[in-house]
Amino acid sequence: MVSPVIFWFRRDLRLSDNPALCDAVRQGEGSLVAVFVIDPALAASVGPARGAYLSETLRALDASLEGRLVVRRGDPAAELSDVARATGARQVIATEDFAPAGRSRDARVREALGRVGITTTFLDSPYVVRPGTVRTKTGTPCKVFTPFRRGWESEPLAEPLARVTGVTWVGAPSVDVSDVRDVVARRRPEYFADLPDDVPRFDARVGEEGARATLEEFLAHVDAYADTRNLPGVEGTSRLSAHLHLGTIHPRQVLAATNGPSRGAEVFRSEICWREFYADVLFHHPESTRRELQPAMAHLRVDRDAAARERFQRWARGETGYPLVDAGMRQLLEEGWMHNRVRMVCASFLVKHLHLDWRWGAEWFMWRLVDGDVASNQHGWQWAAGTGTDASPFHRIFNPTLQGERFDPEGLYVRRYVRELADVAAPQCLQPGAGEGLLAPTGYVAPMIDAATERTDALARFHEARDVARSSSSMGRVG
Ligand SMILES: Cc1cc2nc3c(=O)[nH]c(=O)nc-3n(C[C@H](O)[C@H](O)[C@H](O)COP(=O)(O)OP(=O)(O)OC[C@H]3O[C@@H](n4cnc5c(N)ncnc54)[C@H](O)[C@@H]3O)c2cc1C
Repeated sequence: MVSPVIFWFRRDLRLSDNPALCDAVRQGEGSLVAVFVIDPALAASVGPARGAYLSETLRALDASLEGRLVVRRGDPAAELSDVARATGARQVIATEDFAPAGRSRDARVREALGRVGITTTFLDSPYVVRPGTVRTKTGTPCKVFTPFRRGWESEPLAEPLARVTGVTWVGAPSVDVSDVRDVVARRRPEYFADLPDDVPRFDARVGEEGARATLEEFLAHVDAYADTRNLPGVEGTSRLSAHLHLGTIHPRQVLAATNGPSRGAEVFRSEICWREFYADVLFHHPESTRRELQPAMAHLRVDRDAAARERFQRWARGETGYPLVDAGMRQLLEEGWMHNRVRMVCASFLVKHLHLDWRWGAEWFMWRLVDGDVASNQHGWQWAAGTGTDASPFHRIFNPTLQGERFDPEGLYVRRYVRELADVAAPQCLQPGAGEGLLAPTGYVAPMIDAATERTDALARFHEARDVARSSSSMGRVG
């Protein structure tokens, strides 16, 4: 009799269109041990939002495995080898991970398991095209999006695979999946100080079923996506990000369902491609999670003193006095998600109006977002901060008031999240100082800064950074 194969679930928490799982079913002749390992080393960066979302998702996965999901907590090599001992398995199969921490973990696990005679195989990826595949005509990695997209579109697109059936899920000792909440990192950066660490009220449609329902709902309005995707006050986007992150749906499945000819479908596919582009950039530049992709921008002077920390706290709490920024930051606090247009505005505000380090903002987003994803988040931040490869130039500074007037003209979004302004009509509710000069006081905070003054300061800092970069590179040449 063939011994069971361990299928190590990671960012592929689904039974359909899962090539690595299909391979495990073949190798194990239908006899599988389904394992998820909570690795404290990786959980260290998980905030309450992702912790709780993961917990709910694992619960849904467990239900689809007849309650046979084996959840372990500890070093993955030790836990997998222990499960192998308990079940007689000699093989571990998993979907390949491409994030820097995941890659080094996988190399360690493969080696450690190999030493005790267990083979480990990684295949497929959480992307349509494996990171590292698309190249420029001269064979170099793509630095900017447009050539990447051209190359990405010319790669063959595999048909989604059917859901695995006829599997016997072999049990083994497991911790309770609800314990996942306990692994949320206790270490918080000191600049978070006493900011909230409660669990946000996230979209309850979790797991593979939830992902399918979310996609079905989006298909009804995908054709309008090009017109509505930038309007935070309407449900114009797919809301699939957390599902794509945990792999309760694969982007292959999403593309197969949105392959129509409409402009909306075309723009949507391009957004999926941004996700793949950022994974590719991270693959080639693992240091970009912390370091500016444009080295010159590392010279940008940012503030880190007590006043800077105070500014950060007000930003994170949604108390800047700029209504669109505050609405976004409050949506993040309440729901663990924020609309893409508003993510860009809030990130730009932190860097260019408050003169803070983009890494502080990126860390807060990772802490609060249910879709927190190292590639999309760090590079989304680098884009907004003007430090990325394909970034908006630093000197193009979003005006938070004009952004509100353009993308939330009726104030639907702002009034939903900034409750003090619920009864203030547009365009008044979109202005800094929106709560002032009215008949009845609203309690909304006065603007913490003057955007025009801080814009001038940001541009001065930018020119200073450019000069420092130029003089250090010419000194380098002389030396
Ligand atoms: C500062 C900043 C931080 C961000 N952090 C994250 C993050 O941690 N996790 C994350 O998934 N996305 C992040 N994004 C990208 C984007 O905001 C979200 O993917 C999107 O808002 C999710 O909502 P949706 O699923 O309804 O998107 P839709 O508009 O329906 O897009 C469909 C899918 O395409 C992908 N996508 C869309 N826009 C982008 C983009 N700009 N970059 C990369 N992928 C994209 C996502 O997987 C998304 O689910 C960030 C963007 C910025 C500007």
